[in-house]
Parts: sequence; structure tokens; C-alpha cells
Amino acid sequence: MEPHNVNNVLFTADQIHTRIHEMISEIAQTTESDNLLMIGILRGSFMFFADLVRHCNSHDLHPRIDFMTLESYGSGTESSGCVRITKDTHVDVSGADVILVDDILDSGRTLQFAVRHMQNKGARSVRTCTLLDKPDRRVAEITSDFNGFTVDDLFVVGYGLDYDSRYRELPYIAEVSFS
Ligand code: IMP
Ligand code: MG
Repeated sequence: MEPHNVNNVLFTADQIHTRIHEMISEIAQTTESDNLLMIGILRGSFMFFADLVRHCNSHDLHPRIDFMTLESYGSGTESSGCVRITKDTHVDVSGADVILVDDILDSGRTLQFAVRHMQNKGARSVRTCTLLDKPDRRVAEITSDFNGFTVDDLFVVGYGLDYDSRYRELPYIAEVSFS
């Protein structure tokens, strides 16, 4: 691990929770499905996904919930560019209105791969939901249907996001500075 520090908080726990309330309202307002399937992309989305789906019931949303594990990053901060499935979904995707939930849209390769994978499995519709978006880094042609916050081209950690498997436990999002 390179020498680094994690001092600059970009989004506090309160800001994140307020935004998540707004996001689940947006999702509820645009969703009329009796076959909603929400899929958390592990591992980065685990905290965001849990907090998001926690509010489903109060918006009368009753999705099936599943997870898949995709890997594209090595242990550093740059994507390898190649995405692979290390754990696929269990539930039947055919005919479902899928919302893929990820921590961050960076190059976009991971979500683009996941969207295509769900389409190949016969989903009726596929939408994407991310906590963070780094539009300057985009390589794949994809946008997030529901996004929490836009960030500059920085490496960020916390609230599920890691640097070499660390800092996922932080309740806020902070910038990693390398010096
Ligand atoms: P993409 O395929 O390049 O869009 O990368 C998506 C994945 O890379 C995310 O799901 C994260 O796990 C990881 N990632 C991208 N940017 C960051 C960051 O700033 N901090 C931590 N993880 C990141
Ligand atoms: Mg990661």
C-alpha cells in the first residue's frame, strides 16, 4: 500500500442518509412492477444497498433481493478493465424489472457488464442505481438512472468503498490522498 491519508470527508453520514431517502422516493415514483428485483453488486454496495432497501417497505415496494459479486479491480486504485463474475445471482431473472445497485460508476465497465448480463438472462427491464458517479472517468457508454452524488476524479473510500479492502466500515465518504 502506498503512503496515504483519509482526512477529507466529502459526504457525511447524515448527507448520505438524506440522499438515500430521496433516492428511494424517486425509485418508488418511477416503479410500478409486480416483479421488481433489486440486485446489490458486491462487495462495495453492501452498506448502501442495505440502507436503500431498508426504506422499501415504507414506500410500498416489495422487491425480491439478490446479490452478485463482480470483480474488475486488483488491489490498487486502477481498474484492470476486465470484469468477471465470481458469484452470480440465484433468483430467476426472466421477466423481472431489475435495478442493479452499485457503490460507484467509474469507468462504467462493471455496470455495463452487469446490465448486459441481466438482459441476457431475460430481464424485462434493467435500471441502475449508484451512490456515486465519477463522470470524468467514463469509458463505457452508460449512465446511472438513480445516482446519489457526483464526484470529481478522486479516489474515495468509506460507506462500503475500499482501498485494498480497508475503510469499508467508515460511515462517511472520504477522499484518499497519496503524498
Ligand atoms: P468501473 O467498472 O470502473 O465503473 O468500476 C466500478 C468499481 O470500481 C466500483 O464498483 C468500485 O468497487 C471500484 N471503484 C471505482 N472507483 C472507486 C473509488 O474511488 N474508490 C473505491 N472503489 C472504486
Ligand atoms: Mg472495490
